[in-house]
Amino acid sequence: QQIALGFSFDNSYAKQLQEFYVACEGDKAPAPVLIKLNQPLAKQLGMSNTNAEQLAQVFSGSEVPVGATPIAQVYAGHQFGGFSPQLGDGRALLLGEVVDTCDARQDIQLKGSGRTPFSRGGDGKAVLGAILREYVLSEAMHALGIATTRALAVVATGEPIYRTRYLPGAVLTRVAASHIRVGTFQFFAAQGEQDKLKQLADYTIARHYPALKQSAQPYLDLIIAVRDKQAQLIAQWMLVGFVHGVMNTDNMTISGETIDYGPCAFMDHYDANALFSSIDQEGRYAYSNQPAMAQWGLARFAETLLPFISDNTDAAIAAATEAVKGFWPVFKLHWLNGMRAKLGLTTAADGDEALCEQLLASMQSQNVDYTQLFRQLAVALTQAGSDADNLFTDPALFIKWKQTWLNRLEQEPIPPTKRAKMMDAVNPIYIARNHQVEAAIEAAEQHNDYVPFEALLAVLAQPYSPQVGKDDYSLPAPASFGAFTTYCGT
Ligand code: AMP
Ligand code: MG
Ligand code: MG
Repeated sequence: QQIALGFSFDNSYAKQLQEFYVACEGDKAPAPVLIKLNQPLAKQLGMSNTNAEQLAQVFSGSEVPVGATPIAQVYAGHQFGGFSPQLGDGRALLLGEVVDTCDARQDIQLKGSGRTPFSRGGDGKAVLGAILREYVLSEAMHALGIATTRALAVVATGEPIYRTRYLPGAVLTRVAASHIRVGTFQFFAAQGEQDKLKQLADYTIARHYPALKQSAQPYLDLIIAVRDKQAQLIAQWMLVGFVHGVMNTDNMTISGETIDYGPCAFMDHYDANALFSSIDQEGRYAYSNQPAMAQWGLARFAETLLPFISDNTDAAIAAATEAVKGFWPVFKLHWLNGMRAKLGLTTAADGDEALCEQLLASMQSQNVDYTQLFRQLAVALTQAGSDADNLFTDPALFIKWKQTWLNRLEQEPIPPTKRAKMMDAVNPIYIARNHQVEAAIEAAEQHNDYVPFEALLAVLAQPYSPQVGKDDYSLPAPASFGAFTTYCGT
């Protein structure tokens, strides 16, 4: 008898886009164990099954639950600027879609459940450490209020997976508004399959931007809608010091959610060039390149839709170009308003952008913790002895900047305690610090000890609220931790 989760699956992608995927099943895991279930998310999705053994079967990909139609989706993508015409879910399976208790349609996807026709040379598997890392980072992102795929479950499969050595295998159940990517459009564009491309665009509009159905130019407006979502998303990444690390077009969602937590990381000390990925030698996806890279990916998306914008190619290109160019002002506005909030400003004034840029410039090469600094700025408003200056190796530039900032604040008569509170509501205390994430993974991997993992998740679920006894989690890595490097494809 098939296991029922209590989800009411409604698999529109499988039903409506039949030539856009391959039906596929997961491998049987030798000894699946449910390591983690995201209870609040399970509840939001309307999941009622609480049987850990059954959940381990389903969320390892070993058993297909009632209502699921597991598929591997096809897509292409520009990877580090070079086009790969054939990618696709090489180690993922879309179980289906669930309309959740908030009436939002969500993809339920397994990652690491075995080979698919798109696996190429890969083994279709994922290792426990990388799965736990994605769990922590994506849930941290969600708690920060940033659009992201989420993590529903982690199952250890009991299968050793060979990387540079044998590591425990695991499967992540990922929840997303959809897994439609820029690369999904690129696949059908590269194949010259105009009908399918249009079918995909119409499906995407109906699923993510239904208001555009009424538009006189729905495909141009789709570019604009995706542009605005991505511009907002990247601004939010920048504001919390997040470096995605692999902004290939197959990792750029049409919904505007952050996806693919491979080589990403939050920075401790501020560095405009921050980059953690071992394979990005040129720094293509470094921190400050992120807006430009998002716009580049958006241009690749726009190209796929040109035939539907106008029969006149020049006119189509001109309109799409205009739309893509609009990325910068939209990004700038989100970023600047976000920075204003971080600095306690409630109005806009000429010079605010320069004020923000000067702060960042004062932080460069100062080994100053990005997250802590903004919290200390708020402290500086209400207490004489703020630690902000002490965060800098040489605070001279910052001290000068602080006076400019205080002068700017005087244009807005808000009591300092109130302003500090407003700042604290947007400046997190806790981000997913790399050394803490690594410690949690190590305890799990080496000692089957999930206490640090759970403790870290609990802290990161409330990033803006001080938590008693949790000061350690607000601190950067000790010098002994060294430079942090991340690896793709684990
Ligand atoms: P990513 O770098 O994570 O965006 O993945 C790029 C492509 O490689 C996607 O098509 C993945 O499905 C595929 N891929 C990554 N890891 C594996 C693996 N272990 N086995 C099979 N395919 C993989
Ligand atoms: Mg990917
Ligand atoms: Mg990946």
